[in-house]
Amino acid sequence: MKKTFDALQRALPHIRDLRAYVPGEQPQGEGWTKLNTNENPYPPSPRVAEAVAAEVANLRKYPEPTSAKLRAAIGPRFGLTQKNVIVGNGSDNILDLITRCFVSDPGAGHTVPSYSLYPVVAGMSGQSLVDVEFDRSMRLDVGALAATQAKVFFLTNPNAPTGVAFPRARIEAALQAIDGLLVVDEAYVDFGGETVAPLLQDYENLVVVRTFSKSYGLAGMRVGFALASAGVIGMLDRVRDAYNLDRIAQAAALAAFEDTEYFEARRQRVMATREATRTQLDAYGWFTYPSASNFLFTEPKNAAGESGADVARNLFEHLKAQRVLVRYFPSHPLTCAFIRVSIGTDAEMKAFLTAVDSWPNHA
Ligand code: PMP
Repeated sequence: MKKTFDALQRALPHIRDLRAYVPGEQPQGEGWTKLNTNENPYPPSPRVAEAVAAEVANLRKYPEPTSAKLRAAIGPRFGLTQKNVIVGNGSDNILDLITRCFVSDPGAGHTVPSYSLYPVVAGMSGQSLVDVEFDRSMRLDVGALAATQAKVFFLTNPNAPTGVAFPRARIEAALQAIDGLLVVDEAYVDFGGETVAPLLQDYENLVVVRTFSKSYGLAGMRVGFALASAGVIGMLDRVRDAYNLDRIAQAAALAAFEDTEYFEARRQRVMATREATRTQLDAYGWFTYPSASNFLFTEPKNAAGESGADVARNLFEHLKAQRVLVRYFPSHPLTCAFIRVSIGTDAEMKAFLTAVDSWPNHA
């Protein structure tokens, strides 16, 4: 006899209500200029290919469960020890571990707008969210952050999707003002932000989250890490999957991390391309937030000098028709008049600007 099973009804109530994270589009087929998910336009260090090839011979064996070599390499780079480091399957994995260990009522704090995964990880743990709304200035309101009384507050610095960086002194003021954990998500900090990692010496309520996906060009490998007190790291290790990083990922990340010369050159190049692109957008007379990241958040104007959601959507659609993919966030009043453009190679940015120039509504 056949049996039915109503998965929706049987799922836990908080899973029933959950909406999965919607990643940026990964277009299939050739010919796309893909500037929509903040990937690095350059491949990782050539040492990564060597390390990966060498590791293949070991794939019959389980990986080292704690990614010990990687932790031992990362800690000292920040004046810390390996006891202050945990490595994850992308920093998304780390954000989930933090939520599972430390978020309870009144929910996870976050700024609006910011990274849209925070609501998803909170929802997966059956937790709600406490919003701190930005205004157009994108200034961080420390009082509002503290007033949430969140046990964990996620702060993206530099912020996404604006690219705006917050000064270290403001983040220190937030650390002083709150009782819970402040998770500073530094996914983009290598492109011009100021890390708050030195504050770990004085603030046990700080967690710094980093990724290899952006500045190391390893988005496809899924490696992120967190820096925190040994006590916090110990808790995160309790809920970590036993083998949360495979052998290839551990070897690749270590090779990328150790090739500091390659890292520095590519990071500088992305920043130079960003500033050159920004100069072009300024010449159009568009408002663009100052960016300390590998993307630009810009408010397009049409030929009549108007901006707004219709204008931004129209440009987004035009660019897509030209096979230039950027990101449009229609759902918030502070983002709906903007498009977010990831920084590609100089040639890709030229393709983007050429497509903008062919926009029929362009001045
Ligand atoms: N934090 C922010 C702010 C991000 O934009 C992203 C990537 N979209 C991540 C974290 C996740 O990065 P990872 O690839 O390490 O999971």
